[in-house]
Amino acid sequence: CGIIGILGQHEVAPQLVEALKRLEYRGYDSAGIATIDGAGKLDRRRAVGKLVNLSDRLVHEPLTGLAGIGHTRWATHGAATEGNAHPHRYGRVAVVHNGIIENFRDLREDLVASGISPQTETDTETVALLAGRLMDEGMTPLDAARATLARLRGAFALAFLFDGEGDLMVAARRGSPLAIGHGEGEMYLGSDAVALAPFTDKITYLEDGDHAVLTRQGVQVFDAEGRLANRDATRIDVGE
Ligand code: GLU
Repeated sequence: CGIIGILGQHEVAPQLVEALKRLEYRGYDSAGIATIDGAGKLDRRRAVGKLVNLSDRLVHEPLTGLAGIGHTRWATHGAATEGNAHPHRYGRVAVVHNGIIENFRDLREDLVASGISPQTETDTETVALLAGRLMDEGMTPLDAARATLARLRGAFALAFLFDGEGDLMVAARRGSPLAIGHGEGEMYLGSDAVALAPFTDKITYLEDGDHAVLTRQGVQVFDAEGRLANRDATRIDVGE
């Protein structure tokens, strides 16, 4: 229900949780984050219920790293369990997702036929399975994300994080809003600018069908046809 992503210069786990708190107003039943640590390793923590359950878990099982994604979930496919909570992961790919992948059953049948076993009841996991398998087959993270996006139907926002890639996030907007935040050597993404307000007020809104490739140095936005697109950054006032 809410998405956040940070390529930062500081420990990112507390920042992710802080941003997720600002998305609480949307409602949620579970939450989770994934980070890339200093060695490039992708790991995640998830918890059912209030965000305090996630932050409690992080006290006992911390996640380090300067890059990460986070999510508050409002379940549409699959019960509100820890196993169904985002980020979903397969292979080198972690994914957070708002909305619905309408053709996930067809996609999942193809994956199962090719020998992959889904671990959850969610539509979202299919996205991780598709992209993770493509990377296992040798695709670059960006190509795997793009090839996956091309197969998805529905209304959604998505963010991808990749094991071994501490300076890369890919995000896509189809139907659900997504904002990109610009920092100094830091970049952010979020479901809305309010979530990003503690970090930056310089925002680029993705247009429908766009996908964005983020590094700490900046963002490249591509339109629905895959052409590099010009999307203005604006200073917004969220009443801080
Ligand atoms: N359809 C996804 C799920 O049920 C995402 C729901 C959401 O937007 O939070 O896990």
